[in-house]
Amino acid sequence: MTVLRIILGDQLSLDLSALHDLDAGRDTVLMMEVMQECSHVRHHKQKIVLVLSAMRHFAQTLRQRGLTVDYVSLDTPENTGSFTSEIRRAVQRHRPSRIVVTEPSEWRVQAMVEGWEAVAGVPVVVRADRRFFASRERFAAWAAGRRSWRMEHFYREMRREHRLLMEGDQPAGGEWNYDHENRKRLPARAVLPARRRFAPDETTRAVIALVERRFPGNFGELQDFGWPVTRSDALVALGDFIENGLPSFGTYQDAMKAGAPFLYHSLLAPALNLGLLSPLEVCAAAEAAWQSGKAPLNAVEGFVRQVLGWREYVRGVYWSLMPGYADQNALKATRDLPAFYWTGVTDMHCLREAIGTTARYAYSHHIQRLMVTGNFALLAGVAPSQIERWYLAVYADAFEWVEMPNTIGMAVFADGGRMASKPYAASGAYIDRMSDFCSSCAYDVKRKSGPGACPFNYLYWAFLIRQRERLSGNPRMAMPYRTLAGWPKERLMEILAEADTFLDRLDQDQAAKPAHAPGALEAARIRPAAGDSA
Ligand SMILES: Cc1cc2nc3c(=O)[nH]c(=O)nc-3n(C[C@H](O)[C@H](O)[C@H](O)COP(=O)(O)OP(=O)(O)OC[C@H]3O[C@@H](n4cnc5c(N)ncnc54)[C@H](O)[C@@H]3O)c2cc1C
Ligand code: SF4
Repeated sequence: MTVLRIILGDQLSLDLSALHDLDAGRDTVLMMEVMQECSHVRHHKQKIVLVLSAMRHFAQTLRQRGLTVDYVSLDTPENTGSFTSEIRRAVQRHRPSRIVVTEPSEWRVQAMVEGWEAVAGVPVVVRADRRFFASRERFAAWAAGRRSWRMEHFYREMRREHRLLMEGDQPAGGEWNYDHENRKRLPARAVLPARRRFAPDETTRAVIALVERRFPGNFGELQDFGWPVTRSDALVALGDFIENGLPSFGTYQDAMKAGAPFLYHSLLAPALNLGLLSPLEVCAAAEAAWQSGKAPLNAVEGFVRQVLGWREYVRGVYWSLMPGYADQNALKATRDLPAFYWTGVTDMHCLREAIGTTARYAYSHHIQRLMVTGNFALLAGVAPSQIERWYLAVYADAFEWVEMPNTIGMAVFADGGRMASKPYAASGAYIDRMSDFCSSCAYDVKRKSGPGACPFNYLYWAFLIRQRERLSGNPRMAMPYRTLAGWPKERLMEILAEADTFLDRLDQDQAAKPAHAPGALEAARIRPAAGDSA
């Protein structure tokens, strides 16, 4: 009897545990495109294209290797629209002796898988996902008994355990962290590398047509789709990053520039999250570039820290704290997500830019997510669940296990400090220091209050005033609270009044939001500035 091997949309790896011990002459691989997954949030159109096209290419690869693949496409007339109902149908077709699946990456899907045995009437074997450095159990063992979790501590353990950038039992170069050499502002005359993009092939073009037809109202544009959808293209993208991006990755990791969304970033998260690349191979490629003198240690350590450190750490946080993590709201934030997150229509240049590149590429880099769209949501008191669903919808690399801790824990501090030691709240001065946005903005970043003042400035101080009780005891917030302590009461009242006027206006704009939002987008209105070099 056949064994039914399930491959989910982000499990596109030939070494997937569900495929171990597969008997090509007997077993069937089942892959399912289902409406429930395409619509549980209103994903960016490019994200749907990416996942479905990568799945179709992967099925082709498996068939070329002689495997039997039962592929249920979205347009299959009998498609019942959910994983569970499709499993029921597949069991009737194949009469398997058992079902084998690798643990899903998201809690929501795991809950479905737990119900499959009852639906299918055959045993369902769930295998661990071995494509990460740390299993869920490994993270839980690290976290157990610690009063606070900090990425830095976890990262060092991972470096030792996986022998990455180590010299004996010491970190390469003598330091664990080269952040002090990183995060510089981009020089005005910097010549940026052209980044490798991938023109859609016939399979991808067919999926683009499908998405245009089935998801016309979803957020985002399709004409600049350029993500790798096969392992071979993902390897080309990795090579491109190692050669052209990595050498300056660390130094300009936090820089932002109008019209240049990619800078020196790897653009590898979509391929990593789908399983087209493994975290070990991308870290090993970066380490090899350092060993052969092609990239400096500050860049390579910075990159390894993101992949071996942050990526694994957020996965551990997610699986340790779900399902309750999704409902965290430590700062009691309740504002509706401003309409401009969907339309890009705002006179704040930094936000227009970040949202514009998001619509055009389903991408913006980490600092735009954290310090522009995330920071604004934090300062404006947007409800965590609303901003969290936005991030999950709009990025090509967005999967809940990685997106949710970054949003709930890092961007809006809704977990009260489980993940990060302090809120990433900043005034306009930070954005001005790290970007060229402010010089062509309707607002004046140097003005703290009054007509024309940058909204990030008074929102920042108003946020601190309002959250004083919750945050002033945090030693890492001592400095701004010392500053506030020196201000007269009238000044504090003025700031609060100014912030309220601005936020009230935002709420009124909310009322004007089109009835079919989220998802409403007049793409042409939110294009990044002309001359985009990407
Ligand atoms: C609010 C918010 C939401 C986010 N949502 C996602 C998401 O849905 N999916 C996702 O993969 N990343 C997410 N991130 C993390 C990070 O912003 C993206 O991984 C990164 O911007 C992807 O672009 P890149 O591949 O060019 O990354 P690079 O800047 O080149 O970084 C290299 C790699 O490191 C990993 N990485 C870097 N930072 C993080 C991080 N904080 N957490 C986890 N992995 C990290 C990614 O795999 C990335 O590809 C989010 C960050 C924030 C602040
Ligand atoms: S002035 Fe303020 S709103 Fe304008 S780009 Fe700078 S930080 Fe953003």
